[in-house]
Amino acid sequence: MKAVQFAGQGSMPEVVTVPDPEPGPGEVLLRVKASGMCHSDIAVIENPLLVGGSLPLILGHEGAGTVAALGHGVTGVEVGQDMVVYGPWGCGTCHNCSRGAENYCTRAQELAIKPPGLGAPGAMAEYMIVDDVRHLVPVDGLDLAEAAPLTDAGLTPYHAIKRSLGKLLPGSTAVVIGTGGLGHMAVQILRATSATRVIALDISEEKLELAREIGAHETVISDEAAAGRVRELTGGLGADLVLDFVGIQPTVTLAGACAGMCSDVTIVGVADGRLPVGFGSSPFEMAVAAPYWGGRDELIEVLALARSGAIGVHVEAHPLDEAPRTYQRLHDNEIVGRAVIVP
Ligand code: NAD
Ligand code: ZN
Ligand code: ZN
Repeated sequence: MKAVQFAGQGSMPEVVTVPDPEPGPGEVLLRVKASGMCHSDIAVIENPLLVGGSLPLILGHEGAGTVAALGHGVTGVEVGQDMVVYGPWGCGTCHNCSRGAENYCTRAQELAIKPPGLGAPGAMAEYMIVDDVRHLVPVDGLDLAEAAPLTDAGLTPYHAIKRSLGKLLPGSTAVVIGTGGLGHMAVQILRATSATRVIALDISEEKLELAREIGAHETVISDEAAAGRVRELTGGLGADLVLDFVGIQPTVTLAGACAGMCSDVTIVGVADGRLPVGFGSSPFEMAVAAPYWGGRDELIEVLALARSGAIGVHVEAHPLDEAPRTYQRLHDNEIVGRAVIVP
């Protein structure tokens, strides 16, 4: 089969031919129909240490497709069913996994469990292996090219926002820094699940245009003046929730500068920004967190939200052969919404 593979430091992803995978006992073979392209893949390309020794690696951690074959003993799904892949695989039995939060599996490291596309062979291929039916969720009527990004570009901001919903009361403000793949979903999830006013920040006017179209109340160019503008828009109080989907030092500093008293500052972007917190140097009771992906239960909620029509992915679809060029465009910040590879 054809697959998009990253060989290691200094190389860019290439389309290669590898043997078709076969499902072992308990595993499911998925005929991939869509695989979203995440900026985390760029982080891996620039710093392969993020995936440890798992090289060469078939990329793609936002997968959707049709069940093609079942390994020995698999029950609960049928060949021909359309499914999305829940990506942050865990052991399934520790306390966190038991409540659906496999993204925080306490045994994943010890058992060397790695997510597809970020250690295990991923979805940017004609076929992929899913290690357990637990990691498949029925698509149930959604378009597969849109359903794939919901598993990360949808799920990660959903998880980041859900924990702060209690602060997003009428009259509150949420700031979204970086309205790319994850950020443009965050704007919609905030609008769909709360009464908060949404201020979207990005360095690209084109991305801010999309943010306005999909529900941002205000948009601000992300520069040195941005924090002042957010303060102005919030009557000097600052925001109740600041989501940073970039994570570099300038945006993390900006996130802190936009935050109000008792706010949540949530850093989702994978980069090296740091936010100092201390009495007198940060607003009273500001809380900072850096969450990872989301729970299986939350993926089911995200899919339901999409089916209701309240959120939708702005998809740019490309065939598998165009994946290397599309990665270059993602790197160059030329994708508006989410690029999805359709093998
Ligand atoms: P993306 O490239 O689609 O979007 C990034 C956006 O940030 C772009 O719109 C870009 O214009 C904007 N941007 C860049 N510099 C900016 C600045 N200084 N100020 C404001 N906006 C700026 O990327 P994505 O796929 O949405 O991923 C976003 C980040 O989230 C990446 O760092 C990715 O690795 C990370 N991520 C984290 C998790 C997690 O679980 N924590 C999950 C998925 C992705
Ligand atoms: Zn991702
Ligand atoms: Zn576990």
